Amino acid sequence: MKLDEIINLDKKYFMNTFGNRTPVCFSYGKGVNLWDIDGNKYYDFLAGIAVSALGHSHPKLVDAIKQQAEKLIHCSNLYYIESQAKLAEKLVNNSCADRVFFANSGAEANEGAIKLARIYFKKKGMPEKFEIITLEKSFHGRTLATIAATGQDKYQKPYSPLTPSFLKVPINDLDALEKAINGSTCAVMIEPIQGESGVNLTSVEYMKGVRKLCDEKGIFLIFDEVQCGLGRTGKLFAYQHLGVEPDIFTLAKALGGGFPIGALCAKEHVASAFEPGDHGSTFGGNPLACAAALAVLDVLIDDGLVENSEKMGSYFMNKLSDLAKKHSTIQDVRGKGLMIGVQLSIDAAVEVKNKCFEKGYLVGSVGKNIIRMLPPLIVTEQDIDGMVETLDSILQEYEL
Ligand SMILES: *Cc1c(COP(=O)(O)O)cnc(C)c1O
Repeated sequence: MKLDEIINLDKKYFMNTFGNRTPVCFSYGKGVNLWDIDGNKYYDFLAGIAVSALGHSHPKLVDAIKQQAEKLIHCSNLYYIESQAKLAEKLVNNSCADRVFFANSGAEANEGAIKLARIYFKKKGMPEKFEIITLEKSFHGRTLATIAATGQDKYQKPYSPLTPSFLKVPINDLDALEKAINGSTCAVMIEPIQGESGVNLTSVEYMKGVRKLCDEKGIFLIFDEVQCGLGRTGKLFAYQHLGVEPDIFTLAKALGGGFPIGALCAKEHVASAFEPGDHGSTFGGNPLACAAALAVLDVLIDDGLVENSEKMGSYFMNKLSDLAKKHSTIQDVRGKGLMIGVQLSIDAAVEVKNKCFEKGYLVGSVGKNIIRMLPPLIVTEQDIDGMVETLDSILQEYEL
């Protein structure tokens, strides 16, 4: 089909939640590159929003999916599942968690985290503890409970009344958090690095303070690592930068390398609150999803992608900092590993994103003035040079 035919079909039959999408349809991907249906080549510096961590069509991921699909795609969680058991073991062996539950998305993993924190206190005879404190500008998903957890009006307004019992405090403000914690609080839920709101980092002192407060008050610390987890920031988990461990954390995006799967991970003292019948999923942790995720973790850990993320992240940040010296339109460059935000001093993020697209580079924009970049973790210096040169030439147009 031709692009305009596809667009016409979409406009006629698909619910218009995504508005006017970027006018392109990709048909093939390899490594860091994508090709559209007309054969044009692109450099993917968004990776499906931090999903395609191994790049596109990674042979080990493709093989794992093919082999598992030929054997068994789905079977119910009423039965034992080999790839699920192995994936749970692998996540536990490489993180601070003792137990894992598999969902199908980030929002669903977060729902599981919220339910787990609440049920723990119910079972301990403290049913009054059900409130969760989250951060302003956070993003935790699109289900009714997770939009209530999310600290952004635009996702919430159309759906009020919201699921009750989520309080918001500003990022990196320990006093505000301490004041907000009350007798109803059961947990604090935080993205170690906020993604959707433009790459906002929590500080080490803040997170150490949060951990201490949670311990003193006997409440849980939940990390939403749906976007920043799994090597994105140059360590396997973002909490490893912060010198603290969460009681519960969630994963999704990169976990299946593009195959949908999410994970709820927790330490034993809280995980054991889930007993038979307390939570469940039809698709979550099915043989195919877990086989894909096992392959992703193998490649991330054994093929040095986490190290590459750290190395290429520093290289990228240095190049962007140099670019910022040259262009007054760059106000701030921030991030960790390959999770990078470039804040412009002009409201031109969408325009710059579109110009990047026209030059064959896919990036994201947040609001009016932030460019977000999340390339696959296999990205090379050469790819980054191309991206930086492209940004350089585009920003040149804005110099007075
Ligand atoms: C993307 C994202 C989610 C939601 O994940 P879905 O798979 O879209 O439900 C939740 N939290 C964070 C931090 C995210 O980046």
